[in-house]
Amino acid sequence: MYEKSKQLFQRAQQSIPGGVNSPVRAFKSVGGTPLFIRKAKGAYLFDADGNKYIDYIASWGPMILGHAYEPVVKAIQEKAPDSTSYGAPTELEIEMAELIRSMAPNIDMVRMVSSGTEACMSALRLARGYTGKNKFIKFEGCYHGHADPFLVKAGSGLATFDIQTVPGVTGGVANDTLTCAYNDLDAVKKLVAANKNEIAAIIIEPVAGNMGCILPAEGFVEGLRRICDEESIVFIFDEVMTGFRLAPGGAQEQLKINADLVTYGKVIGGGMPVGAFGGKKEIMEKIAPLGNVYQAGTLSGNPIAMIAGYTMLSELKNNPSIYKELEEKTAYLHQGLDKILQASATPYVINRLGSMISIHFSDHPVVDFATAASADNQLFNKYFHAMLKRGVYLPPSAFESWFLNNALSYDDLDKTISATEESLKEIL
Ligand code: PMP
Repeated sequence: MYEKSKQLFQRAQQSIPGGVNSPVRAFKSVGGTPLFIRKAKGAYLFDADGNKYIDYIASWGPMILGHAYEPVVKAIQEKAPDSTSYGAPTELEIEMAELIRSMAPNIDMVRMVSSGTEACMSALRLARGYTGKNKFIKFEGCYHGHADPFLVKAGSGLATFDIQTVPGVTGGVANDTLTCAYNDLDAVKKLVAANKNEIAAIIIEPVAGNMGCILPAEGFVEGLRRICDEESIVFIFDEVMTGFRLAPGGAQEQLKINADLVTYGKVIGGGMPVGAFGGKKEIMEKIAPLGNVYQAGTLSGNPIAMIAGYTMLSELKNNPSIYKELEEKTAYLHQGLDKILQASATPYVINRLGSMISIHFSDHPVVDFATAASADNQLFNKYFHAMLKRGVYLPPSAFESWFLNNALSYDDLDKTISATEESLKEIL
């Protein structure tokens, strides 16, 4: 069934570390051979062996309208003959910035970059430059890309592979990263009090997706907003996953809370390498060339990436019913999975908001990294393979959210639910 993928994996490992260009793709924690993908269309992935899968990764978020979404493909094709990069400003970048501002109205100014990592790294530097303070708070199990300061108690691949500290990140850098458990407002208050006037920023995934999907408890994000206001701390929402996914205005709109700086990635590029950070004018004006907080990029605002992102965001803005449809589909999946899992008598927790959802095989609520890590993640790994065998491609780790795309049909969802029923029979 996976012969060609197996061969490609063997070959890849000769010249690419671990055979992959991003660690979670390697299936290292779930075991087995990573699938080498040949193409994708709509809700489906096709691997090198010609197998077809219902896709719940959506390229880890970007493909919210399904793969090879025609308006995006067409826009890229039409733009490419005009050259793929200039290294000089274009009108399209203004249009992109204006579109982002129209969808997230508290973004006064926005700078485009090429990944979520760059967006978060730049936002943190800016918050430090703006406040003149060094330390910042992040939450255990949240992932903000792989810039050095964020690789402390991080989620995603670091959680999947149980990497607690990262060689190469110096103690000097890591000492300025303070961490708290997600949803523990009292811990944040204590940390802020113990580091009075030293904290530049609090950065959070307003809905976490890098330890599975974890929702903010009632009052948690509001409480953080209050602390930031009282202590002159820059509040950064990392909306790399949630931006343009939970609502046109992302988690800010969904939770009705404004951050001071917001980082974007994934959906914003329509599947091309794009990130962005934006926010309050008085902070954003500190960036070079206006200010001296330096930040730059040879391919930032790249025309092909911009046209893909612009087309994607325009579709989302002009068709807000997409969000309702996605919400209904995800709720349908949630209910279907509930029914099967309840009948199986397996302890489980499903967390969901909008089109982000995940299962933890746990007998306790999953509200932070510790509770996610103490779920039965070995069982999840077995579930992953049982589903894959049945043509359903879930994230290969319990520490990742699933992302629904709007190309999924109710028939796909029904197939996923019955695959879960069969899978549980096989693995329990
Ligand atoms: N922030 C969050 C919340 C993410 O989920 C990710 C990637 N999964 C990043 C930042 C980093 O984005 P990128 O992989 O594009 O560098």
